[in-house]
Amino acid sequence: MHPLFAAAERLGVSVSSATLPEGTLGAYYAASRRILIDRRLTPEEEVETLAHEIGHVVLGHRALDDPVLEADADAFAAMVLIDPIAYERLERMELCAHDIAEELGVTMPILAAFVAQLRRDSAVARAAARIRAST
Ligand SMILES: [Zn+2]
Repeated sequence: MHPLFAAAERLGVSVSSATLPEGTLGAYYAASRRILIDRRLTPEEEVETLAHEIGHVVLGHRALDDPVLEADADAFAAMVLIDPIAYERLERMELCAHDIAEELGVTMPILAAFVAQLRRDSAVARAAARIRAST
């Protein structure tokens, strides 16, 4: 079993599988501290969905279907599941995104969330450095 299941347990959140509506991979119910994961997912998707739902838990999300919170939970999942050093090594090999995702054992949406987060972080770092240099 993936270590993220134990992480959810340490957070006091129960994880169970269920048949969820089409297009819903997982759900987090903050009031009852419960995560549901669709039982039809591949093992890879199951772990990514669990990481996403744990993101909602640790980031303190309560609202449902807020696109900003969903993007944050995706970024959280990507940062949990992708080792930045492994990503950097694969990127230097000039592999295409599909091959990088396969090497890292993640799906394309999680890889895309990881890359988007890296870009945001470096844009913020560059902007802060410009302001710092001008003060
Ligand atoms: Zn979500």
